[in-house]
Amino acid sequence: MIPPLPASPLERLHHPAAEAAGVQLFVKRDDHYSWEPLDPLQGNKVRKLAPLLARDDLRGRMVVSFGGAYSNHVAALSSAGRRFGFRTRFYIRGEAVRNPTLDLVTRNGSTLHFLDRTAYRRKHDPDFQRVIGLRTEEIVVPEGGSQRESLPYAGAVYAETVDQLGTAPDYFCLSAGTGGTAAGVLLAAYGSPTRVEVFPALRGDWMAKEIRNWLTAPEALTGLDLITDFSFGGYARFPAAWRLYTPAGSVATRAEIKEPLLPPLEPVYTAKLFAGVLHRISAGYYPRGGTVVILHSGGIY
Ligand SMILES: *Cc1c(COP(=O)(O)O)cnc(C)c1O
Repeated sequence: MIPPLPASPLERLHHPAAEAAGVQLFVKRDDHYSWEPLDPLQGNKVRKLAPLLARDDLRGRMVVSFGGAYSNHVAALSSAGRRFGFRTRFYIRGEAVRNPTLDLVTRNGSTLHFLDRTAYRRKHDPDFQRVIGLRTEEIVVPEGGSQRESLPYAGAVYAETVDQLGTAPDYFCLSAGTGGTAAGVLLAAYGSPTRVEVFPALRGDWMAKEIRNWLTAPEALTGLDLITDFSFGGYARFPAAWRLYTPAGSVATRAEIKEPLLPPLEPVYTAKLFAGVLHRISAGYYPRGGTVVILHSGGIY
């Protein structure tokens, strides 16, 4: 069994827009929620994998999961396997490709299989899983690492923040892909005065339904404000002006937040969230004196 990590830091972010608006802005640095700096096993991916990592029969086992070719979840689980001594195999959506994420996964010793989009849609169907060779003794983690058992662990980031702040924040803002982290935070914040602002990284109006499907207590939805104006064209799309090149040649972005306030952000989730919250601060959405926490959920580039 792998002992849980200590709380990630909560930092004040003295951004000029926040200072001008009189908003007390904080960042919950879950990008530091990891065993090793810059490891893909970080942030909400660690929290969501907590039920798996808590198992006492993990060593030497085969863990199977699913994801897109740039999936942070696949990278995180593969790193967990290398670090904690279990094997991993992934079914990747789409035709066979190579990219930095999948190269890293291969270096970690994981096996990859590619499934065309039609087949991939059946990934969680047990009959289909048998056909593609999954065995009963293998441990299956669903796409994105989100499962009901993960929600309390994903939501623990909210309780940590309240502890560190000494009070419930007025706003707790986070990005969403599968909505699993958002659902966990909503459950944790239920009954508090906090508004949970969720910024989907994908285009469309289905995220509320997705989050509702995760919730065991639908009344927790009353804390939700879904902010859909900052998907910037859809999943993995973002303004060209955000593009920075790291020494490794991969893409990172600043989204209007300059050094030394924060290191670069990854463009798929967190840059959109920061850009959205800063825009809303400048537009006067948050009251003067209010506390706003941005969850920096991590992310690799
Ligand atoms: C995976 C991921 C998300 C999305 O989390 P969900 O629980 O799937 O909504 C957000 N931010 C980062 C950095 C991620 O890697």
